[in-house]
This record gives sequence, structure tokens and C-alpha cells, in this order.
Amino acid sequence: MTILRLAIPSPLRRLFDYLPPAATELTTVELGVRVLVPFGNRDLIGILVEITDETQFERSKLKRAKKILDQQPPLPAHLFKLARWAASYYQHPEGDALQQALPVLLRKGHACEYQHEILWRAVADADPNTLKSNATRQIELLALVNEHPSGISLDAIKAEGGNTTTLRALEEKQLVESFQRTHPSHHEQVLHEAPLTLNAEQQSALDQINKLPGFTANLIEGITGSGKTEVYLQAIEKKLNEGKQALILVPEIGLTPQTVTRFRQRFNTPIVVLHSNLTDRQRLDAWLQAREGIAKIVIGTRSAIFTPLKHPGIIIIDEEHDPSFKQQDGFRYSARDLAVMRARAEETPIILGSATPSLETLHNAKEGRYQWLKITQRAGTSLAPTFKLLDIRQEKLSEGLSTQLITAMRQHLANGTQVLVFLNRRGYSPTLSCNDCGWIADCDRCDAHMTLHREPPHLHCHHCDKQHGIPRHCPECNSDQLQPVGVGTERSEQALQQLFPDTPVIRVDRDSTQRKNAMHDIMDRVNSGEPCILVGTQMLAKGHHFPKVTLVAIINADSGLFSADFRGMERTAQLILQVAGRAGRAEDPGTVLMQTYHADHPILQTLVEHGYSAFAQEELHNRKVAQLPPYTHYALLRAETTTKYRAESFLGALRQQLEDDLLLPEHVHWIGPFPSPMEKRAGMHRAQLMIYAENRKALHQLLANLCWYLEQNKESRKVRWSIDVDPADT
Ligand code: ADP
Ligand code: ZN
Ligand code: ZN
Repeated sequence: MTILRLAIPSPLRRLFDYLPPAATELTTVELGVRVLVPFGNRDLIGILVEITDETQFERSKLKRAKKILDQQPPLPAHLFKLARWAASYYQHPEGDALQQALPVLLRKGHACEYQHEILWRAVADADPNTLKSNATRQIELLALVNEHPSGISLDAIKAEGGNTTTLRALEEKQLVESFQRTHPSHHEQVLHEAPLTLNAEQQSALDQINKLPGFTANLIEGITGSGKTEVYLQAIEKKLNEGKQALILVPEIGLTPQTVTRFRQRFNTPIVVLHSNLTDRQRLDAWLQAREGIAKIVIGTRSAIFTPLKHPGIIIIDEEHDPSFKQQDGFRYSARDLAVMRARAEETPIILGSATPSLETLHNAKEGRYQWLKITQRAGTSLAPTFKLLDIRQEKLSEGLSTQLITAMRQHLANGTQVLVFLNRRGYSPTLSCNDCGWIADCDRCDAHMTLHREPPHLHCHHCDKQHGIPRHCPECNSDQLQPVGVGTERSEQALQQLFPDTPVIRVDRDSTQRKNAMHDIMDRVNSGEPCILVGTQMLAKGHHFPKVTLVAIINADSGLFSADFRGMERTAQLILQVAGRAGRAEDPGTVLMQTYHADHPILQTLVEHGYSAFAQEELHNRKVAQLPPYTHYALLRAETTTKYRAESFLGALRQQLEDDLLLPEHVHWIGPFPSPMEKRAGMHRAQLMIYAENRKALHQLLANLCWYLEQNKESRKVRWSIDVDPADT
């Protein structure tokens, strides 16, 4: 008896057995196809992972699957394997992981077939004189179709005022005909515009990437503006000429129209962009175009990693250090790490590019697992910016700005250039406080202050999204002396506008860019080149090219250097350098001024004086000494409950039990449990247990046991728990 073993989207970490639908010819069924099955009192779509004749269940109780939905599996075999591997590596239920690898409409059972577009054209030797002279609509429509010798779609016809009835009439008279649009499989001319002549470092990077056939992993470490993108473009060009496709992953915040425009300007081949504003239908179409080999270039964020390519040629991960490549909830995969696995399976090169590579990637490069390609000079004529620390320990700040900074801003604006002020806090001020009794506006659901916003006026918790009005009187002492504390982007914008009344001040943060096209309009204003002040959050840091910005002022970035998270230092250094990289991108040289209370901190000095590489070198050394990643492998077991201390005691008991039961393999270590960095969030009390090992296998063996144990354990049903392998933050 044959049994279908399916991965079904359910929170359970197990597979489900079904009998095949009646009268199914199983010899032609491939693994990875979607299968419609009854599950509880509804129907679900599972993915076939095994055909077997054994089952642990009583055969007479097995249900029969209703229908096999695909002739061919939606994911090619190696991606199917990758998704399964990822489910097991990241300890995520396989059914859910496999679903997440598919576009939403496929999860819902839509056909996995590319609908070739139907176009209309005039029949070659048709005689238009057969139309009566009073059939104006038909005459007009025929004229329209005639204007499009390579075909026109029904949508386009309707947009021009035509309709289906008239079209059918013309078809009956054999004056027009429909046909399926085909896409050339090979583009004679892949380029729209000529590539730039590479400088020596760029050329040598490209040569290394192209040197070996098959899989190679390559890190391009090059400062912002050093021409990494140009190297990507030329590496892609080579693959397009071979008839292959390219997959480019960019950070969430980096998928700007500017990025896409550069690819469209360069290449004469179909490009699909998987961005968050696509409808489910558009997303499926783009996905299918990639799978059919029609789209030659696929650009997307994290989830695009599972997009199938018919002729895989190369994968590029731009800004590879960016934390958004790691999914932070549910299926917590790292698209960057999976991309390396994928390139290996598809036997293609992969390029990881960054001005500030992650320490993991640098470690891999140092160990010789990746080719380490460095570009040290800015491309073209622009120079790297000069970087200076402003010691503000003794300074009296005016709305967060030191006198030195204001003076420098005046100079740059007077020279006719632009200034960028980076402030990593949106809103008017980080909180509201009572001058008389010291009360502070806290969120009652989180261990966090409420942020004061003025546009529109309200208090907002940025952690759980709770919002309410601004009190007039102190809830503790009824005083009316309520004061904003600290400076956010709204307040800074206001202060700058007062200081520089004749200069436009443009604020860029999540609030000011919510309106559709807002970012586009801002870019237009900035690129007009007039002197202006840009003030904003890290939205300003990535992907943008502001040729006229010569001064970058960093207001408050140094607090991140001392966060409890061991990655705090790395992240802050990356952020500082990414922001700094916006300065002097064109002919005018750039200056970066960073206000700090820690001007004599050695690691900050290393960063400023010797650059990221030197910083990374030191930080890697510190990690090694402290036995932290990338020298050890980490996972976090997180738990949350509505009752205080409960999560912590749950994890404590678990740890005790595992130690007693000797389920702990040798060389695996625990730290904790301890409360999460923000213990209370959105009303939940949170704790975590850190598990680490030098040996990845040992860690994974333990995690698999742990999952099994947690699923059996009654106590664990009363807490929300999750496992995060290679967590991006702790
Ligand atoms: P990155 O991706 O490292 O930030 P880009 O590829 O965007 O750098 O290059 C920065 C600027 O330098 C762009 O305006 C680009 O057109 C220009 N550029 C890149 N390579 C060259 C080159 N070989 N010759 C001249 N200009 C170049
Ligand atoms: Zn008070
Ligand atoms: Zn909150």
C-alpha cells in the first residue's frame, strides 16, 4: 500500500500520512507537488515530501488525499531541498517553512503555470475595404491594431476606448487575430548602455569572480562609492551573455527606485522586482517569469531567496551585513546564509558586497572559505570623506546640536552644498516628563518610554504601537509642567528651521515618508541641488546617492556602542560608516562630524582613524576571547508569558530537567535563563536561554532534542516559546 507523506502548514513539527487520491498513477508523481487533503474539519494544502509504504499509524485510519494539484513541483528539486534543510536547521515546522518558500497564491492552491499574455494583431493580407464605411468603431479599432504590428493586449485596447464586441466582430471577419506573446529565450543585445571602464581594483575583483567555473563565494569589501555595484553589473552581464539569470537580494530599506533604475538603464533584458507593494497576483507572475526563464534579472528583499530560476547564473547579496536578511519571527532564516547554500547547489558564483561586512562573513573570508576582494578607493573622481569626532562632554547643546557643528553647517551651506543630519530617533522627543515630580510617560505594556510626536500630537510606543493623547497635567502630581525630554527628528527639524530660516529643512523618517511617492518627491527636491538640510533616521543611510551632500553630521550614534547585545558594537560601527558614506559622493569632497561623549574610547578611535577593517579586526579578536560568534555557534530559546517571572522559571526548570536527564551533549553550553533585554513588551513578560557550542552539529542535535521535548511537555503549552538559530540580536 502506498502512502503519501506530507508537510502540512501546522505548528506541529511532524509530517502527516495520507492515502493517495483514488485512481492516481503514482509513478508520475514527483516529490514537492502540492496535495489537497482533508485536515480536521477543513481542507489544507500540503507538500509531498515522501512516497512510502510504511506508516506508524493504523492504516485503516489514514485519510485519503483529495487531489494532487501539480504535474510538476513548483520549486525545483534543489530549492525544495534547500527549504527542507532550512526548516530543520532553523528548527521550524517543515510544513510552514515549505509554504513560506512559495508565493501566497500558490499556498492557496492557484495554478502554478505562467499565463502567457494574449495579444492581438492585424491579419497579414486582410482587406480592410470589406468593412462598411459606417462601421466606425470597427474601422477605428482596426486602425489601432494596425498601429501595433507586434501586438496589442486587450487591456491596452480597452484603455484606448475599444471593446470586446468590436474586437470579436473584426476577428469573425478575419481581419484581426490573437496570438500568445512569446519571450525570446536569448537576448542578442543584453546591454542598453556601455559599461564603465573598471579601475584596477574593480577589474581584479571581476577577474577573480569570473576565474573559476561553478560555485565560488566572493566577498567584495569596498567603501561606499567604491564601485561595487559596477562590478556586480559586469559580473551579471557575463552571465546574461551566457543565457543565464541573476538573483539580486537587497536590504528592505535598500530597494529604492534608484537601485532598480540602475539595472534597467544598463540591461536590455526583462527584470522583475519583488517589492512589498506587489499584489499577490503580480508577485506570482513575477515568480513564474523567473521560473520560466523569461525574467533574466530578479531583484528582491529577503523572501526573494526562494525564487526559482530556470537558468541560474549568479547570486548577489548587496549590503550583506544588513540585519533585514534575517527573518525575525516565525521561520527565522537568514537569506544571506541560505543564498550561499543555494549558490553551491546551483553551482554558480555568489557575491556578498558591503562597505562594512558582517564579522561572520569576514571570518569566512579570513579562513579562506570566501574569496576576499577589496576595493579601497572610491571610483571615479570622488574622495573618501574626512571623519572627525566632536567631543561634547563639556558642551552645552542647543536642541542636541553643538556650536562647532552649527558653525560647520553654516560653512557648508554658504558654499552652496547640502548637509545631512543623522538622528536615530523619530518623533518629537523620546519622552515626556514632569518637571515637578519626575514622572515619565511610560508605556504600560512595555519596559519603554512613550515617544512624543507633534505631527499629529500624540504619545506613541514604538515597541507595541500603543498610542494615546498627550496629557495636560501630570498623572502623578497634577502639575502642568510637562516637558519633552530629548531630541527626535521632528524637534530637530523645527530647531534647524529656526537656526537656518533661509534654508529648506527636509525631514526623512518613517512618518514623513508614509504618503505614496513621498520619498520620490524628497529625492527630487534634494537632487535639484539647491542647498538644503536633510534631517532623518537610518532611512537616509542606505541606497541613496546624494551628490550634493558634503557634510554629514551624526548626532547621537554612540549610545549603541555600549548596548548589552554583543553585536551592538558591530551594528553601530556599520551604521556610522553607512551614514558617513553619504558624504561627498560626487566632485565636492565630504566631511563627517560625529558628536560623542566617548571621544577617547579606543574602539571608536580605531574606527574613525583606521577605518572599518581595523575595527573589525579588533572586534573579531574580542569575540574570539569571549567565545562569541563567529567563533562559536549560538541559538536562543525565547519564552514569553503574560505573568511576570513565569517565562524565566519555565526556562529554568527546563534547563534543570535537561541537565538531570543528561540530554545535554558534551561541549554544549548554556547561559541563563535571564530576562530579555526588554523584559516586558506588548504586555508579555519575556526571558531567554542562550545555548552555544563550538561544534555546530552538537548544537543542532541538542536543538532537535529540545524541540521534541518542548512539544511533548505540558508546561510548554502555557508559554509562547521559540528557537532562534544564529540570532541577529540577543
Ligand atoms: P558602491 O556600490 O560601491 O557604493 P557604485 O558602483 O554605486 O559604488 O559607484 C559609485 C559611483 O562611481 C557611481 O556614480 C558609479 O557610476 C561611479 N563609478 C563606478 N565605477 C566607476 C568606474 N570604473 N569609472 C568611473 N566611475 C565609476
Ligand atoms: Zn508630576
Ligand atoms: Zn509599548
